[in-house]
Amino acid sequence: MGETTTLHDWPQPYRLLDAQPYWHALSGEDLAFQHCADCAQAVWPAHSHCPGCSSTALTWKRSNGRGTIYSHSTIMRGPTPVWASIVPYTVGFVHLEEDYFLFAQIDGDPEEIEIGRAVAVRYVQRGEQKLPVFALVDDGPEQ
Ligand SMILES: [Zn+2]
Repeated sequence: MGETTTLHDWPQPYRLLDAQPYWHALSGEDLAFQHCADCAQAVWPAHSHCPGCSSTALTWKRSNGRGTIYSHSTIMRGPTPVWASIVPYTVGFVHLEEDYFLFAQIDGDPEEIEIGRAVAVRYVQRGEQKLPVFALVDDGPEQ
């Protein structure tokens, strides 16, 4: 790997210390989030204390990666050459079934992406890091 920036260089995330288990889980294609053992709420982004009850009894759980679209915005002009290479693309907040929100790319036809639609996580390699991307799923009954 050279040090020259190319069209295909993805910006790499800044990994906050509290969120290290999240980044580690992603490399194995798992979605991890914090959970408070005292008040039982999901905690995200990662904290050293529960924002609900101040407990330090935070543990890591694995998300099932399913949720619904809470908000979305489709980008037509990429902010950098690598992002411009994939326009149009959509980003937004996904409300996970474990009751926390994650900001991520949402894959799919922008005309079909709507608030409340069901999505499921998949993983894409972006530079050195795997990242979660949510894709539309059918709203039919659960298997
Ligand atoms: Zn708590």
